[in-house]
Amino acid sequence: LLASLTLISQSLLATPIKRSDQDIDKEVSHLLSKMTIEEKVGQMTQITLAVILDKGSRETGDGLVIDKEKLKKAIHTYKVGSILNSTATALTVKQWNRLIKEIQDEALQTPNEIPVIYGVDAIHGVTYTKGSTLYPHNIGLAATRNLKLAKATAKATGKELRATGVRWNFDPVLDLGVNPIWSRFSETYGEDTYLTTQMGVGVIQAYEEDGLENTTAVASTMKHFIGYSDPANGKDRTPAYIPDIVLWEKYLPQFKAAVNAGSSSIMINSASVNGIPVHGSKRLLTDLLRGELGFKGLVVTDWEDVIRLHTRHMVAESPREAVKQAVDAGIDMSMVPKDFSFYELLVDLVKSGDISEERIDKSVSIILKLKYQLGLFDNAYHESEAAQNFGKAEYKNLALKAARESITLLKNDNDILPLPKNAKILLAGPTGNSHAPLNGSWSYSWQGDVEANYPENEKTILDAFQRAVGKKNLITHTYAGFNNEKNYDVNGLIKKAKKADYIVLALGENAYAESPGALDDLNLAKNQMALAQAALSTGKPVIVVLAEGRPRIIKDIVGATKAIVQAYIPGSQGAQAISDVIFGDYNPNGKLPYSYPQFTGDFANYDRVYLSDIQQLTPGDMSYNGYKPQWPFGHGLSYTNFAYSNIKLSSKTLKGDNKLNISVKVTNTGKFEGKESVELYVSDLFASVSPAVKRLKAFKKINLKAGQSKKVNFTISKDDLTFVNPELKRIVEAGEFTLAIGSEKINFHYQF
Ligand code: BGC
Repeated sequence: LLASLTLISQSLLATPIKRSDQDIDKEVSHLLSKMTIEEKVGQMTQITLAVILDKGSRETGDGLVIDKEKLKKAIHTYKVGSILNSTATALTVKQWNRLIKEIQDEALQTPNEIPVIYGVDAIHGVTYTKGSTLYPHNIGLAATRNLKLAKATAKATGKELRATGVRWNFDPVLDLGVNPIWSRFSETYGEDTYLTTQMGVGVIQAYEEDGLENTTAVASTMKHFIGYSDPANGKDRTPAYIPDIVLWEKYLPQFKAAVNAGSSSIMINSASVNGIPVHGSKRLLTDLLRGELGFKGLVVTDWEDVIRLHTRHMVAESPREAVKQAVDAGIDMSMVPKDFSFYELLVDLVKSGDISEERIDKSVSIILKLKYQLGLFDNAYHESEAAQNFGKAEYKNLALKAARESITLLKNDNDILPLPKNAKILLAGPTGNSHAPLNGSWSYSWQGDVEANYPENEKTILDAFQRAVGKKNLITHTYAGFNNEKNYDVNGLIKKAKKADYIVLALGENAYAESPGALDDLNLAKNQMALAQAALSTGKPVIVVLAEGRPRIIKDIVGATKAIVQAYIPGSQGAQAISDVIFGDYNPNGKLPYSYPQFTGDFANYDRVYLSDIQQLTPGDMSYNGYKPQWPFGHGLSYTNFAYSNIKLSSKTLKGDNKLNISVKVTNTGKFEGKESVELYVSDLFASVSPAVKRLKAFKKINLKAGQSKKVNFTISKDDLTFVNPELKRIVEAGEFTLAIGSEKINFHYQF
């Protein structure tokens, strides 16, 4: 009997319990009524794993050992409600499962048996787990313009993450990639608000769509609210100065849409915007986020950012004041509370009446609610049903598909690509035989540069090329020197080039995350430029493959180089995808999610062009002085050609809340089957606020066989014509607009 009862209870456990919001609210208020102030504040505290690890264990993931005394201190003395992060090297799924078990065993012994919520950054695959699949970084996913594909990679990530026992993912990044000096550019979906919104919302849906209680779902985190990505000097977490009208126009819509899509949590920008650190801004966190956007989920700080209101931003005269400001502003949970000072100070603030208990009850309710929603109160451990979702064969195909669709062909003079497989190829350059630049940051370690972490079956570009053309056709000159200080052997390259028909230069950036990726100069490293110049001096055709998280300036070699391929940070199938494109097994179709700058002093984005002394002749035309990127936003070639014709509107006038239907014919006029992202831009010709030159409002990816045509339909409404006015209200004005799709353009009129 006992055995069958155990079986029944196990099978009950295996079925996730779906609770109504009302039921959860009841449970939460009941629990809250039993909790002490200390327990409540503990729930608002999130510590990093390093705090409870045995000394030395952080560095050697294999030796993962929790220090039981430290764990007990965190859980019972400081009543910690949340833990984040990993060891310096990747853990196995088994180790993760054990880690979660040891933590929850302890947490469930607290008086109210409240489980811990564990969070990590699984931002392009389950980045801290051995054997997981890594997908292209967000910047590459944005280049695919394929929402379904981006969602599929997020879904797979969510499943693999849940299999480890972790149910909270600090993803997606909704910051705009507008400043390529900034070291986190690759984590963004690029410079465009609409593209970021579509991708971000899609990813959130994929993480959460099954319902958080399900073993295929994880809680998502919108980050970093708000204005994080454009620091004035380009250095991470330094002050940004972004006028409110721009903040509301370009940085807010993606958060608004993500809140509406139901994202469970949000992380705050570590820096200050217009002099006010966001962690201390009641205006942004309470009035805007909770008030205007109506966000009801969990607001988590970024790393040690509460105390930094005192130590970095100097807006709080003491650590105690810093805690008060952050809590008053609206944070619910403090990530890495710096030696538990957050806990001690907040307990004191509540006990002395400087912060009301009702105030912290609000935050604790939100935290407990998320724990209930994620099923942690039903089963705090790793779920056996989730385990089957780790390491599925299909993830590899997905990673290959995503990497292939991200790759963007920037230049291809006289159709030199694809290369014949029987030619002699010289493969040279630092990204040629290394995994780190293809996987980037957050890849089995935070910095992603520990080569030893990469699975043996993961290929480098060299491996993939060898398979494509055979060893005897491949001459190599690869080395790991990415930066100026390293030696480079230009003469060796020139000598080897004599025997080659083509030189493929694999250039770019090694892996980096956050401030270690800081740059003073966006030019590609001098040694790599010298290598390229040497290759060009041989007279042999040179093809450049870039694996880079941000567009590095390569102006001096663009003209003479025959073909240039942007691979971004393509993930664990990246090498194969690059090889497939170079040798014609795949027809590239990625489109730049940013304006690739030509000059170090000019990071203009496509939508806003700074007027110069040259008159803008045609409204919406960007060809006048002011926007001079190396390649514009949306640029990307194919091995075939697409012709646009026959643009049609359902009406020349859009009235009030009606919709306007637009159609265009796209024909594959080239020799190969190919995919094309058909993109619709809207230009407001005259408005009370100087209008954007044009704005992306829709895109659809289609596949066309050689010679085939398709009619592509779009619908727009007045929402696509709005802009933010100086009172920070989103409005629409009557008047003339232009729609542009490919080479086609047409005007219409909006009236109320
Ligand atoms: C980053 C966040 C990340 C957090 C936890 C911070 O340094 O800014 O994006 O989620 O660390 O790893």
